[in-house]
Amino acid sequence: MIVARTVADVRAALADRRDGAVGLVPTMGALHAGHLALLASARDRCDTVVMSLFVNPAQFGEPADLNGYPRDEGRDLEVAREAGVDVVFAPSAVEMYPPGYQTWVDVTALGALLEGEHRPGHFRGVATICLKLFTIVRPDLAFFGQKDAQQVEVLRRMIGDLHLELELVVVPTVRDADGLALSSRNVRLSPEERERALALPRALATRDAATARSILEAAGLHVDYVELAPFKPPTLAAAVRVGSTRLIDNVPLEEES
Ligand code: AMP
Repeated sequence: MIVARTVADVRAALADRRDGAVGLVPTMGALHAGHLALLASARDRCDTVVMSLFVNPAQFGEPADLNGYPRDEGRDLEVAREAGVDVVFAPSAVEMYPPGYQTWVDVTALGALLEGEHRPGHFRGVATICLKLFTIVRPDLAFFGQKDAQQVEVLRRMIGDLHLELELVVVPTVRDADGLALSSRNVRLSPEERERALALPRALATRDAATARSILEAAGLHVDYVELAPFKPPTLAAAVRVGSTRLIDNVPLEEES
């Protein structure tokens, strides 16, 4: 497995792999079984699997959230190697945003809903880093989790609007046995908070926004939103805060025929 730290190095690593399908799995590390599902899907469908490992400062609002984001590069590289990744792209922040950097991608309407309302600038950061990764790696396929349903919608829109030639593959949400969607942020939950957080998948399973809200509130969770989102397919999406940890989850609902 090659670990590339610079744009030049990752391009060089991929130069002689262009005759087969190149798959990209963007991650911020702290890898868990959700990431592994994306890597397995990429390994299945692509000749070359590239995983990016970059905690993107541009998509964080609070400095405390960015600074407290779990990081363990040594372990992540081991996990990536075991998952059959060919190339890891793990750049520094200054490699991606050198002094003078000033170019941003804004998916205006979709990026302003829901998460966008509660985390202003978040999707601008996500769209920008993903477009940069797409132009650096030039993948044929890029793999994203259903867990971040709005991210998928925003990126699908960007790919269409900018005529990018890549296929976006969406991988179903991986959950723990108790129903909680896996997230790098789950490690911050105390046992008591984790117990309360289980109201989130339970509430979404009702597939009804009003019922879900009452379940979340009864569990003492602060609800940022729980709404039927205008995605394809329509999706019941929620964000809650459990103590100082913010969790998101969603269930796609069938298209009405
Ligand atoms: P992150 O490292 O949190 O930015 O996530 C990297 C990718 O993994 C994103 O496409 C996420 O949607 C996806 N992902 C995160 N958690 C899960 C999960 N529980 N199941 C499936 N995919 C996930």
